[in-house]
Amino acid sequence: GTTVSFAASANSERSFIMVKPDGVHRGLVGDVIKRFEQRGYKLVGIKVLVPSRELASKHYAEHDGKPFFPKLVDFLSSGAVVACVFEGKDVVKTGRTMIGATNPLASAPGTLRADFAVDMGRNIIHGSDSVESAMREIALWFNADELATYATATQAWVYE
Ligand code: UDP
Repeated sequence: GTTVSFAASANSERSFIMVKPDGVHRGLVGDVIKRFEQRGYKLVGIKVLVPSRELASKHYAEHDGKPFFPKLVDFLSSGAVVACVFEGKDVVKTGRTMIGATNPLASAPGTLRADFAVDMGRNIIHGSDSVESAMREIALWFNADELATYATATQAWVYE
């Protein structure tokens, strides 16, 4: 029979994907997760929490000092978020493409932000902007034992 092999290491990149409070209030958690799942990405971590101001500030530390920073931290810590880790080939860059531009009005049609959002401060979702950011954010939001290592039955049909 045909042997199907799977290069696990090349396809194990991880990104931190978070449905922000506006997305949770609007019932868009399933829509976000569905996009990543149907693309072929593997969910390896997920939790719902109301982030503390401290956690929100650490998450957005690169924006500390900018005019929108206080509002951003207030908003992120104002309600429940769904923090996820998705795994797969090029998931960081492809995840950003699937999410769309920061300003939803400038996001390409078919992206999450274009399909579900209008205002920049209500753009429903966060996704890591680099592999380095992803590693920092995953370590900030998750303990190592909250991330699952497993093989999906379909991986040989997603990856050649
Ligand atoms: N943001 C904002 N006003 C701005 C710039 C950013 O409200 O002028 C918010 C917006 O919700 C964005 C988040 O701050 O998603 C983080 O900004 P970043 O530039 O990192 O955008 P992202 O990586 O989320 O596309």
